[in-house]
Amino acid sequence: MSGLDRLCIHTITNKPWTFEELLDQYASAGVGGVSIWQNAIEDMGANKAATLLEDYSIQVVSYVRGGFFPGSSEQARSKAIDHNKKMIDEAAAVGAPILVLVCGAEPTQNLVHSRNQIKEGLEAILPHATEAGVKLAIEPLHPMYADTRSAINTMEQANDMAEVFDSEYVGVAVDVYHLWWDPHLEAEIKRCGAKGNLLAYHICDWKYPTEDMLNDRGLMGEGCIPIAEISRWVKEAGFNGFEEVEIFSTKYWSMDQNEFLNKIISSYKELIKT
Ligand code: ZN
Repeated sequence: MSGLDRLCIHTITNKPWTFEELLDQYASAGVGGVSIWQNAIEDMGANKAATLLEDYSIQVVSYVRGGFFPGSSEQARSKAIDHNKKMIDEAAAVGAPILVLVCGAEPTQNLVHSRNQIKEGLEAILPHATEAGVKLAIEPLHPMYADTRSAINTMEQANDMAEVFDSEYVGVAVDVYHLWWDPHLEAEIKRCGAKGNLLAYHICDWKYPTEDMLNDRGLMGEGCIPIAEISRWVKEAGFNGFEEVEIFSTKYWSMDQNEFLNKIISSYKELIKT
């Protein structure tokens, strides 16, 4: 054991690498899991990606991402449903047990309306997901993204949505970057675990100052998120899956990716020591 058996890295984190490069590097570093972003395998396709994966002992943790259900026209919403079904099929093809959902928001309508459309979207794709054996993980996003990326912005909203379905195929992905500020986080994580809805756990850090709202995430320990404390809540809620490092960073994408991977691993080891 490398001590990294519960470490998973999202392919977007090492965006400059090809999928093959990622797998080679993660495997030789002893990283236990990978979460695959669609763009990483778009050119080769899910079936070729699945064939490649057979040569590695790395576990596919999740496929990223579906969602974006709200839309101002019926046509836009039904296109989103078709797209989500395709993402479910691709997740199944690469052996991902979970499809992460960035649920979407339509800025020309209010958030309640968008949340209703998210519920309708989930209803429409759930039979497909169940049949494919792929769980849908609702990822609440920080409210700074409530304009276009997600009308689900707190764990409470994500829990409410997941509980409507009461299905083992609908749950929640907890991402510290989006949720660390929430005074109800501990209680809502506990609620999520108690309902059996805690499907995934994403980590990185919130740098201060943050220079870019999307692409300036930090390495664990580099910012102000109490990650060790949140990790404890997640464990206490019964979650024993992977800790998934998901860092979008123009700064880190511009550096040598092997050097960056070393930084990820050392900051992860530092985190799990605490
Ligand atoms: Zn995330």
